[in-house]
Amino acid sequence: MFHAYGKIIKVSGREIAVNALKDEAEADKIIEWLRNEINRVWDNRDHITPSEITPEKPKLIEILKLLPKTNCKKCGLPTCMVFAAQVVEGGRGAEDCTELTPEKKKQLAEYLSNFQLNID
Ligand code: SF4
Repeated sequence: MFHAYGKIIKVSGREIAVNALKDEAEADKIIEWLRNEINRVWDNRDHITPSEITPEKPKLIEILKLLPKTNCKKCGLPTCMVFAAQVVEGGRGAEDCTELTPEKKKQLAEYLSNFQLNID
């Protein structure tokens, strides 16, 4: 079981479970990503050196600084804080806040580009 893209993903035997999916399209996207990752790891298994270092995540406060903080709910979430928490986990991105100015959207996208979180 692990966290990725704002979801809890559980892989066991012949079953994959993902929580809080928006729709079937999102499920297909995550399954495709997972299949590619499993195949990539298998293909490169002889060249992979395991790492015990946890990758750095975006900082919630840095994301929150760029958001309008109006809690308008247009993103479908109750507050900008909840939105920022989902961005940290990769479940949302700069494009999902409709209230960001183009400049702030660009700044947020640039900040997030320092972290590998996108399935696309
Ligand atoms: S759309 Fe943007 S400003 Fe509105 S609640 Fe969501 S994150 Fe906050």
